[in-house]
Amino acid sequence: MTTAQKKTFEVLPVKRDHYAMIIGGERLEGTNVATTYNPATGNPVATYAKATKEEAELAIQAARKAFDFGKWKKFPVGKRARTLNKIAGIMRSRFQELVELEVLDSGKTVSAAQGQVMQAIEDFEFYAGAIISHRGHVNNIPGPFTNTTQKEPVGVCAQIIPWNYPMMMAAWKVAPALAAGCSIVLKPASPTPLTAIVLTEICHEAGVPEGVVNIVPGSGSEVGNYLVEHKQVDKVAFTGSTPIGKDIMARASDTLKRVTLELGGKSPSLIFDDADLDAAVYGSLWGIFYNTGQSCEARSRIYVQRGIYDEFLEKFVAKTKKLTLGDTMEAGTHIGAIIDEKQLQVIDGFVQSAKEQGATILTGGKRAQVHGFESGTWYEPTIITDVTQDMDVVQQEIFGPVVVVMPFDDEKEAIRLANDTVYGLGSAVWTTNHGRANRVASAIQAGIVMVNSPLSAFPGTPFGGYKQSGFGRELCVETLDLYTETKSIVSYIGEKPLNLFGIE
Ligand code: NAP
Ligand code: MG
Repeated sequence: MTTAQKKTFEVLPVKRDHYAMIIGGERLEGTNVATTYNPATGNPVATYAKATKEEAELAIQAARKAFDFGKWKKFPVGKRARTLNKIAGIMRSRFQELVELEVLDSGKTVSAAQGQVMQAIEDFEFYAGAIISHRGHVNNIPGPFTNTTQKEPVGVCAQIIPWNYPMMMAAWKVAPALAAGCSIVLKPASPTPLTAIVLTEICHEAGVPEGVVNIVPGSGSEVGNYLVEHKQVDKVAFTGSTPIGKDIMARASDTLKRVTLELGGKSPSLIFDDADLDAAVYGSLWGIFYNTGQSCEARSRIYVQRGIYDEFLEKFVAKTKKLTLGDTMEAGTHIGAIIDEKQLQVIDGFVQSAKEQGATILTGGKRAQVHGFESGTWYEPTIITDVTQDMDVVQQEIFGPVVVVMPFDDEKEAIRLANDTVYGLGSAVWTTNHGRANRVASAIQAGIVMVNSPLSAFPGTPFGGYKQSGFGRELCVETLDLYTETKSIVSYIGEKPLNLFGIE
């Protein structure tokens, strides 16, 4: 059935030269090997066994067998919760190594990776707690009947994740699915598979039974598509770009799979003239340049009330110029590398076309030369003004350290501009007027509104989009509903048989 050769599972160092895929509780080498690179240096990090359709099929069968005949979903919920806590405990004990591997594989800064790996750990702890109280209901129904509902795991879940937060996205997917009792086939993004592979290993080390978590690092067009179309996969949970999300939704429709989509964004920040200006400047700096702008909820459109527009820009540009690019392992480095050359060209294309259309580049606007890291892919933090609402740089997701800043006159106009996009993921409001904060938060068409804060994602906060930013919420208790089916059990409790036709 396959050319793959089985190897026995053992605990290996987090950082090493080669990573196998994991299927049915065992490390597997397929026929293909790929290399991952550190975007900050251009140097290879490690090789990994690259999955094809053949191994995707094996992984689906392993997950199917574990779900249909295995014990994970039948474990008392407390035992599943303990296992999730154990996964978190092992991750904590290898925190530093996981952070370093994440930095190497993705080119992000060590401070960003620390926060993200810590959140991944806390996600497992959160779902260990949340699953305990995830339960059905007793419903009031008339007559001699009772009705209860119970939550049952949805089945085999294909989980496809992007490269911008490799470890955190893996945790957002794996933790709730495991908690709910599902089986998983995880497909990491091709540029950044390593920490997701290690997470899968840790799941096994913590006692998750074989076949419950499988990982197939392979290409989206081959392995991803195969998982999405497969008849024996019950659900697809996808995080990635909006065009691929649309394609996945169409492909999944033939088998009516459950689908959740966490897609792109073009999130606005609205800064009113009564805002604490320094807070808005610092918050906007983080909002766009954190993770080198490679965030789905990056606040890449800043609208500033006209009276404070110049003052905001002056401060914002001055602070942006102080951001450092450099050694990603240094705690003081603010900005990491762009994931690869292709993405860098996409970013630069947006900037150059805005320039040609008359926009002003206040700072940045080109590839960055970083001393000692000349072979890496780096882009200068870029602020663009003199743009119009219809320009690509204002409407399309750039996914890099590029932000547009525009003025507005009043609350009504601010809301109109904020909502003038096909996306609806994040948004921010900066004001000291409590009533305004609440009015604007209610009027914005987005899954997340940050009020006087640049932070949007803590374990427990629903994360997901309106409009073409997708649907479904992750990181919260409601996510468990998306990994379970609700079964309604209606019981007759009367003494006499129910003779509904009234036949003697
Ligand atoms: P992407 O190109 O859409 O890829 C995402 C994942 O889908 C990767 O694992 C990719 O595999 C796979 N894939 C590609 N084509 C596929 C296909 N036809 N069928 C099935 N899977 C396929 O996105 P990306 O460039 O990695 O990530 C950036 C995007 O993710 C941005 O748009 C960002 O906004 C979004 N994002 C959203 C959220 C959120 O929560 N809303 C969070 C993070 C990122 P390969 O790597 O092999 O191509
Ligand atoms: Mg890499």
